[in-house]
Amino acid sequence: MALRVTFLGTSGAVPTAERNPTAIHVAREGDELLFDAGEGTQRQMMRFSTGFSVSQLFVTHLHGDHVFGIPGLLQTMDFNERAAPLAVHAPRGCRRRLEELIAAGGTRPSFPVRIDEVAPGDVAYRADEYEVRAFDADHDTRSVGYALVEDERKGRFDRERAEELGVPVGPKFSQLHEGDPVELEDGTVVRPEQVVGDPRPGRSVVYTGDTRPVAGTVEAADEPDLLIHDATFADDGVERAGKTAHSTARQAGAIASEAGARRLALTHLSSRYAGRTGDHLAQAREVFDGEVFAPDDGDAVEIPYPDADE
Ligand SMILES: [Zn+2]
Ligand SMILES: [Zn+2]
Repeated sequence: MALRVTFLGTSGAVPTAERNPTAIHVAREGDELLFDAGEGTQRQMMRFSTGFSVSQLFVTHLHGDHVFGIPGLLQTMDFNERAAPLAVHAPRGCRRRLEELIAAGGTRPSFPVRIDEVAPGDVAYRADEYEVRAFDADHDTRSVGYALVEDERKGRFDRERAEELGVPVGPKFSQLHEGDPVELEDGTVVRPEQVVGDPRPGRSVVYTGDTRPVAGTVEAADEPDLLIHDATFADDGVERAGKTAHSTARQAGAIASEAGARRLALTHLSSRYAGRTGDHLAQAREVFDGEVFAPDDGDAVEIPYPDADE
């Protein structure tokens, strides 16, 4: 089951020629999710071929560099005769301003747009095999981060063992894998725990939005496979990071380390670094042992299962 994250915009508040304001596209087996939509997000979706079938849009906060792409994107969806509903999730108290932003172009989309306000701790979206939870960020306006957390998967089915026990190949295999005991023709009962291993963890992706380093990020998911963290500044901007309620790459690294993340993506890079990411990467690596990268617009990563056997 593929889980793919595409970085559509990796700049801080001010875009550069190379970097668009924030937007992150996540595709998981037919589900398309968008996290934030800075100005120009729809063109990034075209350039990087993510498609427009997004069903859920998660807004971290109402700063322009995270939402100015929404009206244009919705207008294009409307021109494309979209009929499918779009759910927009945003922090509490944001509904009216989002409605005004969407209506600012003079027309309302003809497909249903539902705005859903979320508080930290809420499950913003529940799907078949995963959920997206909101968690508290620390920014200078009401702001949340989001964690996509997959359910545990069933344990591995030991086919050889099942055959040894005399279970005939067929529906009894899946019955056991589903957790039900089966009775063989000679009356023997085979229990699932004899042939099914322990449940295996799913994958998780945590996205902070704009934030100072906070404990909420560490608690958002247990050992996330990917942590996408605000890294607006390098060490030279640590004071400014505190004042403007952002993080440095080193602070992002410390949070990744505390959370036990496998990979760390440094994003929301200030335009003052003119695309240079060397300091950010080096400083995060001093405090975090996992893989660190600073994606460019259009970079995509696949998230493998922790036991990488699928
Ligand atoms: Zn921002
Ligand atoms: Zn912001």
